[in-house]
Amino acid sequence: MIRHLGLKAYGKINLGLDVLRKRDDGYHEVRMIMQTVGLYDKIDIYLKETPGIEVVTNLYYLPVNENNLVYKAAKLLMEEFHVPHGIRIHLKKFIPVSAGMAGGSSDAAAVLFGVNKMFQLGLTREELMKRGVKIGADVPYCIMRGTALSEGIGEILTPLADMPQCQVLIAKPSVSVSTKFVYEHLNLAGLKKEDHPDIDGLIAAIKSRNIYQVSERLGNVLETVTIQEYPVIADIKEKLKELGAVNALMSGSGPTVFGIFTNPIAASNAYEELRYGESRNLAKQVYLTNFYNTKEVPHG
Ligand code: ATP
Repeated sequence: MIRHLGLKAYGKINLGLDVLRKRDDGYHEVRMIMQTVGLYDKIDIYLKETPGIEVVTNLYYLPVNENNLVYKAAKLLMEEFHVPHGIRIHLKKFIPVSAGMAGGSSDAAAVLFGVNKMFQLGLTREELMKRGVKIGADVPYCIMRGTALSEGIGEILTPLADMPQCQVLIAKPSVSVSTKFVYEHLNLAGLKKEDHPDIDGLIAAIKSRNIYQVSERLGNVLETVTIQEYPVIADIKEKLKELGAVNALMSGSGPTVFGIFTNPIAASNAYEELRYGESRNLAKQVYLTNFYNTKEVPHG
């Protein structure tokens, strides 16, 4: 029996995010281009002799009970399959929290994968994805990873061609944004045509593997809400472009901003500037990473 598993739960950014309508059940129908990045949380799952799920994390303000998505994910599978053992989950967070990078969803995805493997439950990736959506709309994507079109409430996924490699600078200002707040304040009827990103154009650019065409078409309709609330997001976007990013965009409901760089030297200079230079007060967390497209080693 497997007694320990070490997993990596990768974060995502949105190269495109459009909201089509609010459904009668309150969920929003979206069209998003998802992209995994190389920034990850570390998750270790240990087998316990006694039953029960225990969660330990490095962030004191995160719940360690049922409200943590790793707990929910483990419980969902362990109850369904009447697993007689217990587990202890060590969660080390690196992905910014409440940031629009699906950190919690990715943690849940990694735990679904891990519990399935540890107890040899035999579920396929598709079967894990079906269960994942019960935990959160982005969980199926976090199981799949890579570059993908996400539709419906996030559960209808179409894989897209891998993005060409380049540097991605991630900057999160010191504000926390509630996804619920952003969607509730999105005034779909009042939006102009140019507030909506050209998702089809973005898909075509991804297919042609042209990073400049992709960058030109980056767009996120939720910026209309979050930037209004936190203008620092627009300041970070401007600064990233000034420092050489081909383009910059807010990810998810924010407040994280990412900049795409094709010049590695410009990218590392921009990192230094945001982290230690005169612009250091714009963002609290800054990471230099890249697109992560390796699907071969699941969560390894
Ligand atoms: P999304 O991009 O899907 O909108 P997010 O980046 O806005 O996600 P997360 O960091 O995934 O948000 O989750 C933030 C909220 O979820 C916080 O209220 C936090 O307490 C709760 N939470 C539960 N489990 C986790 C987890 N494993 N990691 C981070 N947050 C978690």
